Amino acid sequence: MSKHIPRKRFGQHFLCDHDIIAAIIRAIHPQAGDNLVEIGPGLGALTQPLTAHLAHFHVVELDRDIITRLQRTYPATQLTIHAGDALAFDFASLGTNLRIVGNLPYNISTPLLFHLAEFAPYIIDMHFMLQKEVVERMTASPNTHDYGRLSVMLQYRFDMESLFDVPPSAFDPPPKVDSAIVRMLPRRAEDMQAASLDTLAHVVSSAFAQRRKTLRNTLAGILKPDDFIHLDIDPQRRAETMSVADFVRIANHIQPRKNS
Ligand code: SAH
Repeated sequence: MSKHIPRKRFGQHFLCDHDIIAAIIRAIHPQAGDNLVEIGPGLGALTQPLTAHLAHFHVVELDRDIITRLQRTYPATQLTIHAGDALAFDFASLGTNLRIVGNLPYNISTPLLFHLAEFAPYIIDMHFMLQKEVVERMTASPNTHDYGRLSVMLQYRFDMESLFDVPPSAFDPPPKVDSAIVRMLPRRAEDMQAASLDTLAHVVSSAFAQRRKTLRNTLAGILKPDDFIHLDIDPQRRAETMSVADFVRIANHIQPRKNS
């Protein structure tokens, strides 16, 4: 087959460091019988070693040239190729106990993470390569610079852990940024349950829309002075001081008004 020219618009940076590839496969720890899907297999840096562990798995890929290559390389009994956009893909169609992996296209990482969060009940775990800066925001704690909407909305759904960093030199072509491998495990705990995800998302977006402003300002359209008293939240606080549980409490407090 002729050489594939990497396409920038598809965020194509192909892994070529064999030690890093081996470390990612060890982190995933694929087991025979896993219901696994890889997003963006590309030229197969992860796909090929995964075939050594799994009799069959799924991939979702957008680039038609790459899809043709995959079809030529892997029999359909081994690899089910879903040609299309991972952002629009119905991961629930693959069943439950899903394991999702991939060296994700960085240009769509935030919308893709939000899309995947919707399928949390179907997922066992996810292992992704992402920009290191994005992984830092995903895993950030309150009262840090990196803590924001992405942290809250993903930490609400997942326990997340940054496993190790990957330098640009591990890829061809090298990206301009450092990367990191993140593990995401859906939270099963019932202790923190938002009555409505839309309401939680609305509260969190409003609170972080102007990070420097107090909640009295950013949540003016959502919480009245009485609400702050009832919730025992100081209206002078800023969004970045609030825990995920605090945001869930606010969302659940105002939910009855949304329903009526
Ligand atoms: N996993 C490979 C390739 C990573 S590059 C490796 O590690 O070498 C990112 C891959 O995601 C490319 O194959 C690219 O074509 C694919 N991709 C880009 N946008 C996509 C989308 N919206 N849906 C599915 N795949 C996409």
